[in-house]
Amino acid sequence: MGYIAMIGLEMHCEASETNTKVFSSARNAYSVTPNENIRPYDMGFPGVLPVVNKKAVEYAIKTSMVLNCKQPEYMYFERKNYYYPDMPKNYQITQETKPIPVGIYGYVDYECEGEEKRVRVNNIHLEEDAASSDHLYDTTVIDYNRAANPLLELVTEPDFRTGEEAMAFLEHMRTVYQYLGVSECDTKKGHIRCDVNVSIMDESLDPEDPSNWGTKVEMKNVNSFGGVRDCIKYEIKRQTKAKEDGTYDTEVIQETRRWDEETQSTIAMRSKVDAVDYKYFVEPNIPKYKLTKEWLDEIRASIPELAYDRKKRYMNDYGLSEYDSNILVKEKKISDFFEDTVKLGTDPKEACNWVNGMILSYLNYHMITIDDIYMTPDMLRDQLIDDKTISSKQAKDVFNKVLEEKKEPMQVVKDEGMMQITDEGSIEGIVDEVLAENPQAIETYDPENPKALDYFIGQVMKKTRGKANPSIAYKMMKEKLDNLKK
Ligand code: ADP
Ligand code: MG
Repeated sequence: MGYIAMIGLEMHCEASETNTKVFSSARNAYSVTPNENIRPYDMGFPGVLPVVNKKAVEYAIKTSMVLNCKQPEYMYFERKNYYYPDMPKNYQITQETKPIPVGIYGYVDYECEGEEKRVRVNNIHLEEDAASSDHLYDTTVIDYNRAANPLLELVTEPDFRTGEEAMAFLEHMRTVYQYLGVSECDTKKGHIRCDVNVSIMDESLDPEDPSNWGTKVEMKNVNSFGGVRDCIKYEIKRQTKAKEDGTYDTEVIQETRRWDEETQSTIAMRSKVDAVDYKYFVEPNIPKYKLTKEWLDEIRASIPELAYDRKKRYMNDYGLSEYDSNILVKEKKISDFFEDTVKLGTDPKEACNWVNGMILSYLNYHMITIDDIYMTPDMLRDQLIDDKTISSKQAKDVFNKVLEEKKEPMQVVKDEGMMQITDEGSIEGIVDEVLAENPQAIETYDPENPKALDYFIGQVMKKTRGKANPSIAYKMMKEKLDNLKK
């Protein structure tokens, strides 16, 4: 018998782009120095009070709209009570009980391996992040930089069937958050973390009926997209094997596991049989407030062009291939760089070739981002060969020299004496010189033989050290020789 997998994601995204935290006035900024951006609220001192960050709410609403969710009439928060050192107030301010969250019951269309897919969104809510704990070998240290940062948790229905679909969805959502300006979505800074829920069921049963669903296993805090894909694959295999071996009821239990990168396997952490009762209640220190129609309209009107639409525009307006367009829009900053280069008057196809070719391979090779490369859209425009001052082979050399020596492209062209001679007067002077010096070659020149010009062009190149524009030199030389032979 065959099985199908039911996969649901809880995607946490830190809204890294607000100036301050969601309930405190500390800076919302990633730092490698522990406890640099903190205020008493973040450390849970007695008596601290939350102040809601309006920008964070705006970002949450904007995302809720893009997810086709229903927004609540009133915005309010809840208290989730639990004890853990990374949450010293002993409660987290969140939104859990429907209809409170900033968005409920939406859907997202995304593409997976060239196919359109849809996943239903159960809800998206705004909450505060916890601190991060680092377990050293005989002690645990806590960094409160992240505590009280705005965190958006998006909960999907179990509509994914494969690891590839889940990963494609995450990549899609990363572009949404980046294009909305909500988050940088840098997984290295922990901006995106996922809880992955997986179960399998007999393929003959109806997946719409929850009573048919298998036992759900949850993998907590998977922090890379590849990790999400791989842990799903692993779990599907493990659960399928248990079915086949007749050990499903004892091996697959409702529990939390973790994805271990090293062994590429999931490891049991704790059973989830006795669900914790968090004793939610409406957060009394944040008055509920009405989301006015005017504000919602304003937010809706500010939603920019997203990656999917940009991609379509690149294909339609610039004639770029789907493959190239997909690469360009995958990271907003890359796409912005490309657009800025085009706005400066560069041919889009040429700009695309450079960005997707030389620039991306340089970034990948050096493991840096487009912010860190010594190249700006202006410089790329300057070093492109629109005006044919340098050849395309030279352009690549210039590119490498600009990055190696941190010089302006025009300076490199000058310093290396790369400027092509395109001025017809100068080329004519040299052509005449070559003709005057080679009476014998003119004697044997055969206008019908296409190769007969090579010798003369060779002489022009020798005199100009390869800098004469070959097509101008060729045309001029042929005209003059053919005239002499008439
Ligand atoms: P919990 O109360 O354990 O957190 P929820 O019902 O809130 O569970 O669901 C959490 C996530 O698990 C959601 O993304 C949901 O789609 C997913 N999920 C629920 N049931 C299953 C199942 N049987 N198999 C796979 N995923 C599931
Ligand atoms: Mg949760």
